Amino acid sequence: EAQAEAIREATAAMADRMAAEKSVLTDLDSAIGDADHGANMNRGFQAALERLEDADDDPATLVKTVGVALVSEVGGAAGPLYGGSLMKASGELEEGVTAESSVAFAERYLETVEERGKASVGDKTMVDAITPAVHTYKKSIEVDDCDPLEALGKAVDAAERGVAFTTPIRAKKGRASYLGWRSVGHQDPGATSTLYLLEELLEVAR
Ligand code: ADP
Ligand code: MG
Ligand code: MG
Repeated sequence: EAQAEAIREATAAMADRMAAEKSVLTDLDSAIGDADHGANMNRGFQAALERLEDADDDPATLVKTVGVALVSEVGGAAGPLYGGSLMKASGELEEGVTAESSVAFAERYLETVEERGKASVGDKTMVDAITPAVHTYKKSIEVDDCDPLEALGKAVDAAERGVAFTTPIRAKKGRASYLGWRSVGHQDPGATSTLYLLEELLEVAR
């Protein structure tokens, strides 16, 4: 099926990107965390690729499989947030991927990250990238009547601004919050990996 193939392709592109950015993400995490975000994400996406090899070809199952792999292999704070939220949001794709179901998926993903991490916008976490991306995606589709590809392009731009916003603010959640004011001036690793993954999704969707 075409949708299943696209999800496999997107996962492969994400895995390649995580491998390529491993040292970038680790450097960001070494400034305000414990220098493992690059290794964590790389390990998780390699595991996701392996698990997809014998997963059934339907969108919800494939996304759920990626989530399970990330929960079991990424570890740290990011593993359960990325993986658990994908597992939860995958339920919105049971009838296939449409403009409507993709909005529901995105909203459920954001909701779950917020719920599990207890973080909101401005805490200097991945939520700062996900929120503007999801809000922009939903608005572009539901209000502006954009097609999903155009909406995704706008969402990626919004995520990029969200990542930039993490630099000048103080961390209030996660390891970086232990640094207090010393976290100011550093870009958040998890917001950055979120942007990279969205960029790959857009690239494959094009
Ligand atoms: P750890 O901090 O356990 O080593 P990682 O380095 O893999 O885990 O991931 C760190 C990233 O996780 C942070 O940059 C941040 O974006 C995200 N993060 C940490 N805590 C939270 C939280 N409570 N809510 C949302 N995101 C969080
Ligand atoms: Mg870390
Ligand atoms: Mg860690």
